[in-house]
Order: sequence, then C-alpha cells, then structure tokens
Amino acid sequence: MLKLYNTFTKSLENLASTDSDIKVYLCGPTVQSSPHIGHGRSAVVFDFMVRYIKYSGMNVIFARNITDIDDKIIEKSIEENISYKELGDRVTKEFKDSYDKLNCLTPDFEPKATETIDQMIDLIDDLIRKDYAYVTKSGVYFDVSKYDSYLELSGRSFDEVLSGTRVNIEEDKKNSEDFALWKISKENEPSWKSPWGSGRPGWHIECSAMIHDIFKGEIDIHCGGNDLIFPHHENERAQSTSAFSHNFVKHWVHNGMINFSGKKMSKSEGNSKFLAEYIDNYGGNVLRYFFLRANYRKPQEFSESLLEESKVTFNNIESLIYGVEAGLEDSNLEKMFNDAMNDDLNTPKFLGDMFEYINKNKNGNRTQFIKTKSTIKYLFEILGFVFEDKEQKVDIKLLENILIEQNIQIENDINVSINKFIAKRNEYRNNKEFEKADYMRNRLDEIGIVIEDGNESGWRWKNS
Ligand SMILES: [Zn+2]
Repeated sequence: MLKLYNTFTKSLENLASTDSDIKVYLCGPTVQSSPHIGHGRSAVVFDFMVRYIKYSGMNVIFARNITDIDDKIIEKSIEENISYKELGDRVTKEFKDSYDKLNCLTPDFEPKATETIDQMIDLIDDLIRKDYAYVTKSGVYFDVSKYDSYLELSGRSFDEVLSGTRVNIEEDKKNSEDFALWKISKENEPSWKSPWGSGRPGWHIECSAMIHDIFKGEIDIHCGGNDLIFPHHENERAQSTSAFSHNFVKHWVHNGMINFSGKKMSKSEGNSKFLAEYIDNYGGNVLRYFFLRANYRKPQEFSESLLEESKVTFNNIESLIYGVEAGLEDSNLEKMFNDAMNDDLNTPKFLGDMFEYINKNKNGNRTQFIKTKSTIKYLFEILGFVFEDKEQKVDIKLLENILIEQNIQIENDINVSINKFIAKRNEYRNNKEFEKADYMRNRLDEIGIVIEDGNESGWRWKNS
C-alpha cells in the first residue's frame, strides 16, 4: 500500500484505499512570468504520484488551479504595458506547452481564479457571517485570533510570523498577522464587484473556494511546493476549516525546491532559468528522468551538467529497451518498483535497485533478460515516459547482421555490442584505415544509427 509523508502529522501514512475516488488538489502556477525549472519539478513529481496511484488501482480526480489575477500579475502587466489578461493568457499557454511536452496528465479540473470569483465572494461572505473575517476600508481580512489551530500545519510560532510581516502596508488590520480575503482596488486596477466594494480576491481564498466548488467535502491529498506551506496552505486551512464543518485535507504532501549550487532558486538570486529552454534542448523524457533521480521531498541540485548526465543515462535506458514490447513480465523487478514507490514514492531507490538488477542479469539468460527489458519499458511508461520507437524502429535483425559482419558478439544489451563496434571502428581510425572506418559508419547509418566523432563521440538513433 502506498505510504505518503504527511507534512501535518510529520509521519508516513497509508493512502487509504477506499471504494471512492482519491481527490487530489495541486496548487498550480501564478501566471505572471514564464515557467522555470522549479515549476517543472512540481508538475512532474506530482504527475508521478497521480500516475502511480492510478496504477495501484485507485481512481483519481485531479485538480490544479491557475492563478490569473494577483498583485504580481498586475505589476508585471504594467511593466509590459499590456492588460493583466493578455499577460495571463500568454503565460498560461507557456505553462500548458511545457506541461504537455513533459507529458504531464491534464487535470480533470483546471479552474482559473477569474472564473471562480462568485464562489470566492460566497466563501468570504460566509466567513464574515461566522465572525472569522472583518471588513475594513482597504478590504476584508481573516482574523487569525479567532482560529485556534492557526500555524499547526507549518509549526511556526507567532513571533516568527510577525517578524516576517510587513506591518505598515495595511494599517487597518486588527492584527498584523491577519491576511487579506478581498482587496479593494486602486484606480485603474482590474476589479470585480462585491458587497464590500470593487476589488479582487486575495490569493489564499482562491484555492479554498475552488476545492469546495469541485470536491464539496474533504479531499485526500493537497499538494504543492514546500514554499507554499506558509503562508498559503496555512491560510487555506484556516479559511476552509472555519467555513465548513467537515475536515479539509487528509494528506498534506509537499515537494522540495530546486537548488543552484546550494543556493535556493529565486528571482532575487537571479538564477531562475526558463523551463522551455531546457525542454527544447533535452526533451521531456530527459527532464522527467532528471526529476525521477531525486526524492521528491528533498531539495534537488540543478545544473546543466546534471541534466547532461541524465541525458546520457536515459539514452542508455532507451537503447537497452529498444525494440522490445512493454509488458509486466519480470515479477522481481515489478516488486522492486512497487516496494520503492509505496515507500513515499522513493524513485531514486527504484532506479538504484533497477540498475543493480540489470548489471547482475545482463549476461545471464537471454530470454529472461528480454522479459526484464519489457518490464523496464512498461514501468517507465507507467511513470509517464514516452518511447517513440514504433515508427522509427531499427530492424534489430539488420543491426545484428552488421555486427556479425564485423565479428562483434551479439550481447543481451545491444548497447554493449554497438560500443564494441565503435571501439573497433576507432581502432581503424587510429591506424588511419579510414576506408574501413567509413564503411562501418555508413553501414549503421543505413539502418538509422548515427555515430558521432570528436568530443560528442558515441552513437544515437537518427531521429532522436
Ligand atoms: Zn493553493
């Protein structure tokens, strides 16, 4: 059974398998600027999670929101001299393109803030009537002194919270740690009508309203980056538990941040890079593989050379399973996968076990090893990797003939045979027997395999 780490209880807990659906809500992007690598990580690790829950036999209802109105969006749109909507539409499309290229499942629900305003107004109204919120000249605020279990999710103290609050911004709040549910708009700012004056919603109220709108009752998993635990998730929890009589969330699940050489990625560090560049250069599979290598809860170090490493390793996996049909045919490997994934989605453990298993068995029984390869392919497809070798399939028989022609032994891992082939060709080149070396390269080229010389030496499938 899948155990997930719950940020609230700080322990591993079984994801209860009931007859009903597993309801998952992921805090999606604020569409103010192009997605960076951290957005990619959050999308992909929770895509692994949703896919694995489905694979475990449970049905998932998955919602991920789009925050398309917010202070930063307004600021950015003024800078660019376009409307908040133009900016939001453009960036929303960029996110969608990246999600698609990373092969992330499309959520069942993808609500936008600007399309959920009525539900947010209803919820704020409810909180005012229940005396959890109050109206001032600048907006409507949640009164945290009325909510006993405030800060229980993040485990912060009020002192810590106060030291991080900019006190002078909204002077008409009762307590400086109170947070905005509705903000009265200044002149020329986008605004919506409300009982408290024209304005826009605060950020936190959006997710509470959407979750209620979509799922009605308690949800199973609320996920997002661990930078959202405070204040965002703490505030969502305060709002939802105050307004509704049912429990809000069963499992709070948070992913770790991306680090650049030990520094946290952030705009102020000037080290946030755009996700689309990496996807274009390396492809969605390599990015997915990069995220698969780390435990989703821990910080993950990022650099181009680490992506390069992922590319090489993933290329090896692709070559290993080239030409086999995906199928669950090796129960040892299947068990390794289930054991690692059930242990809080321990993907690096699975990879470690898998490589050890491959090394142990690659020189063993050939028929058995083909079953292992089929299973690897199957499991990687479960995790959302796409192998596009159907149309560009190299005829393995032709490849084997070429290898035999050069007296290269056919190995279980065809990669090993090709590398021997390349080594032989390099010997010819070193001995200046270029005609023989060229002949070998051309033979592989005929069947769609490219040999590269120089710094990038190695080989690749022609269409990859
Ligand atoms: Zn949220």
